[in-house]
Amino acid sequence: MEGLDEFRKAIAKYGHFFKHARVDKAQAISVEEAQQAIAERARGELDTGVGLEVNVERLASKGLLARWAEEIGGRIGDEVGDAGRAIQAALEGRLEEPGARAMLLAIQAVARAYADMLLERGVGYEPSARCPVCGLESRTMVKRGKWFNMVCHFCGYEWRVSDKMVCPYCGESNPVAVGAYGDRARRVMLAKCHTCNSTWRVIMDETIKAPRILLPLIALKAEQFKVFARLGDGGGDASLEWGQVHAEGGHEE
Ligand SMILES: [Zn+2]
Ligand SMILES: [Zn+2]
Repeated sequence: MEGLDEFRKAIAKYGHFFKHARVDKAQAISVEEAQQAIAERARGELDTGVGLEVNVERLASKGLLARWAEEIGGRIGDEVGDAGRAIQAALEGRLEEPGARAMLLAIQAVARAYADMLLERGVGYEPSARCPVCGLESRTMVKRGKWFNMVCHFCGYEWRVSDKMVCPYCGESNPVAVGAYGDRARRVMLAKCHTCNSTWRVIMDETIKAPRILLPLIALKAEQFKVFARLGDGGGDASLEWGQVHAEGGHEE
């Protein structure tokens, strides 16, 4: 996992890429500090011979997950109380329940440690948008040399999808059916598959260097080009300056 300093610098440098996401930067840095400390301790407990889910269950039964969730809870003002209930609520997405957010952040720290351990052996190949580690669907693609990789917004795992722009949702590879929309700088673009109607965000500019966990946030800039993806039926690259069409105020979903 990249260090806290890199995280802090990337938040400052690329904050304008995700200004509409209303991220509390101070809290993001505080949570990152806690997650890094937890991930460090989790590494010694994790067994990559079995899946993430089994590892999370083992950490829960040892009481470690409860302790880690309490640590994070102290930073975000979310008291854990009954750890079993918090785990259940976190996994079912009921984040308004007490302790659920803290628990989800603790589970995320564990997932990130697990993903890191796999990545140390190299980037795998998986022609899909579904994260092979935690099973969540990614909307973030990054260009790495000749490869297009997906990055998971939850565990930070990264995997190779293809050596050209292929739709990770349906596999469409016809360049007429898969378009990418952006401005002249082409740093971040919004890709659209006209076969299955999916859209996803692509970080094209390889000089954008940030910890992997921040790439999905940085890629949110691509939402500014939504209007082109809607207009551009028929594929191709609109390559318009988004400011020409609509001034400040791109909207998140
Ligand atoms: Zn994942
Ligand atoms: Zn598709």
